[in-house]
Amino acid sequence: MSSQGAEPSIFSRIIAREIPATIVAETDRLIAFEDIAPQAPVHVVITTKDPQYRNVVELAAGDPGLLAELVRVAQTIADERTMGQFRLVFNTGAASGQTVFHVHAHVLGVVTVADALGEGSLGSL
Ligand code: 5GP
Repeated sequence: MSSQGAEPSIFSRIIAREIPATIVAETDRLIAFEDIAPQAPVHVVITTKDPQYRNVVELAAGDPGLLAELVRVAQTIADERTMGQFRLVFNTGAASGQTVFHVHAHVLGVVTVADALGEGSLGSL
């Protein structure tokens, strides 16, 4: 289902630079920025510039190539920030904790081995 006609999501407003965010990566079709409420030592959100897909199921059905590109961007961010290893989370549906209905992935990771040993270091997402 399309989100056309709805109010712009908070992520569309970040993409339009209407509200500030710490942007860490950008391609023609994707943008990645630090989560405002991090659940791990590294917590980056990757979202599509096109807001038409509400969740990863819709993105996988509608544009699997873009989903694959998103995963590649996640790996690049992890290579730069989290020793190349990461958790990739797509909350799908309000009951799962999704609050922004503009498809996005959470890239969660640790910076050092010591972080990895910390209790709850990758949060509860
Ligand atoms: P969801 O709960 O939909 O899976 O993830 C939405 C994420 O967006 C949350 O982790 C939340 O902290 C983040 N978020 C919400 N509003 C903003 C904002 O204005 N700026 C940034 N950088 N992150 C936001």
